[in-house]
Amino acid sequence: MKGPRAEVWIDLLAVGDQPRKCSGCGHFVRRVHDWTEREVRDLPLFDADTVLMVSRARVACPRCGPKLEALDWLEPHARVTKRLAANVARLCKVMPIKWVADHYGLHWGTVKAIDKAHLMRELEAVDLRRVKLLLMDEFAIHKGHRYATVVTDAERKHVLWVGKGRSREDVRPFFEWLGKARCQRIQAVGMDMWLAFESEVRRHCPQAEIVYDQFHVVASFGKEVIDKVRTDEARRVKSDKAAQELIKGAKWLLLGNWENLPDRKTKVRLNELLDANQSLMTVYVLKDALKALWGYIHEGWARKAWENWLEMAQSSGLKPLMEFARKLTRRIDGILSHCRWPLNTSVLEGMNNKIKVLKRIAYGYRDEAYFFLKIRAAFPGIP
Ligand SMILES: [Zn+2]
Repeated sequence: MKGPRAEVWIDLLAVGDQPRKCSGCGHFVRRVHDWTEREVRDLPLFDADTVLMVSRARVACPRCGPKLEALDWLEPHARVTKRLAANVARLCKVMPIKWVADHYGLHWGTVKAIDKAHLMRELEAVDLRRVKLLLMDEFAIHKGHRYATVVTDAERKHVLWVGKGRSREDVRPFFEWLGKARCQRIQAVGMDMWLAFESEVRRHCPQAEIVYDQFHVVASFGKEVIDKVRTDEARRVKSDKAAQELIKGAKWLLLGNWENLPDRKTKVRLNELLDANQSLMTVYVLKDALKALWGYIHEGWARKAWENWLEMAQSSGLKPLMEFARKLTRRIDGILSHCRWPLNTSVLEGMNNKIKVLKRIAYGYRDEAYFFLKIRAAFPGIP
């Protein structure tokens, strides 16, 4: 329950007739054209929302005409003081706009505008000089519909660019912005097996190697192989209701990591399921073996491990698995290239999760420009 908020009003009167700084040109001007008055919110005084009544001169500037005097604590047309704006922006880093608005008794839109302006100032310049390794990723802006692409510096782990869409045309502006000379210096790009990204990288950075990242490839193995085999198996045993329920309920057990299983009981349950079902056992083991391909440093060993994997997949008799293996065969260079460019793709996974969190606390961010700024701000990187 909210009670009435306490308020303090303070009249601020200008004193003296010293020269005042013109907010247009910065020169000092003695002649005052007229006076304006405006309500300005400031930091709270104790428990009270604080409103300043600011009387402010408009100087008669010989260069600019009538102009507001410049104050170092208040922007010319702002409705909040700089120090309040700075505090609002600081809180917006860690909590939703609505909480900040409630805390200070400000409108949602005011808080958002303050935070957006702050981020635009802070994030203005992106340092592109030393960029050699890139990570590209896509994410859904609204559930499953519109997408956006985020490009990160793999070494300094900061976001370089965020743009709408995920097609070749959508990501082209990034490479154009990066410029020809810097494109030539890109040595490797980590990404999902997403053809649009790959084609666009090859066009602008023909010398760069493509490196598929473990997180995405293993995730698509989960979706395209494990989930399909699981559904097939559930259908196959439909005369045995108990077995069918067990298989149907095991979706997350099968997709997750063994080390992350919550307790011993769950591990026993998964073990029993795998013991009883050869097909599920095969895809589960091959998931781990697929993951392990990214652990090799020596390419020869990695290739050997891949050949073993391929043989097991092809002789499994499981259609989704064999299809996936065929797809990977065409693109295996993008996995083996990891030995030369061990891009730390946990950055991608971390970013994926953090963007989800940002989306949650921001009610979908209707203002995409603001959402993209928040993403950039969440990954300032290491200097
Ligand atoms: Zn002026």
